[in-house]
Amino acid sequence: MAALDGLPPLRDVIQRHGLDAKKALGQNFLLDLNLTQKIARTAGPLEGATVIEVGPGPGGLTRAILALGAKKVVAIERDSRCLPALAEIGAHYPERLDVVEGDALKVDFEALADGPVRIIANLPYNVGTQLLVNWLLPGRWPPFWQSMTLMFQREVGLRIVASPDDDHYGRLGVLCGWRTKASLAFDVPPQAFTPPPKVTSTVVHLEPIEVPIPCSPAVLEKVTQAAFGQRRKMLRQSLKPLGGEALLAKAGIDPKRRAETLSVEEFCRLANCL
Ligand code: SAM
Repeated sequence: MAALDGLPPLRDVIQRHGLDAKKALGQNFLLDLNLTQKIARTAGPLEGATVIEVGPGPGGLTRAILALGAKKVVAIERDSRCLPALAEIGAHYPERLDVVEGDALKVDFEALADGPVRIIANLPYNVGTQLLVNWLLPGRWPPFWQSMTLMFQREVGLRIVASPDDDHYGRLGVLCGWRTKASLAFDVPPQAFTPPPKVTSTVVHLEPIEVPIPCSPAVLEKVTQAAFGQRRKMLRQSLKPLGGEALLAKAGIDPKRRAETLSVEEFCRLANCL
């Protein structure tokens, strides 16, 4: 494991810095640098790239990203206990690692990025979906990020890539399908983490669609929220607060259909008719 960069094995780093995992911070660490390299490679060529990483923890994924040639990694970590371990990595790769201590939900990511960035993260499960949604909703498109390679619980990964008539299709699938090309890269079993989580995880790779169907993100959210809020009901019922049958007629959509059968294009049409 140390062969990747000559730095000590992660197990030693964790022990030396007393980084016992905190559940409240979603801390499930990856100690296998072959696996962290596999995740980093999924992002595409990293030679000369700028990368934003959320939640570097003891730095397993950070080390892989740097070893693969990223010019700069900006890593946002909430747990101050991890900072000394990250400082050791920064010393090994001078001028290439900036660590920002803080809550990623409060960070202005666009301000951190001078030029296109790749986002790569083994996300804390409690904030992962919210971060993804925040990255998908900027007013300006294409966004500041060039790609996102993110670890989620498999269940969330399936929702991200879901298409109509799929049980996992919902608000997240519509949002991701509208603005990105999203794909599942590979699964990671619980025993790959320390401590192991209860469920299987999966790595998802997303790239922005250059020109998505024109539509207001806020209105699209409003429509999908109403439609999937009562996903088993016919749209004429679930969309009643937004105009029901009249709205559906305007959009040319059969009022007897259910939310899970609508394509992304049809959701955008509804949003544009509102
Ligand atoms: N990247 C490391 C790895 O792969 O082993 C750690 C991943 S662990 C699943 C999630 C990390 O996110 C932890 O280091 C945790 O402290 C950090 N974290 C949790 N909530 C955060 C937040 N709101 N903002 C920034 N970091 C956070």
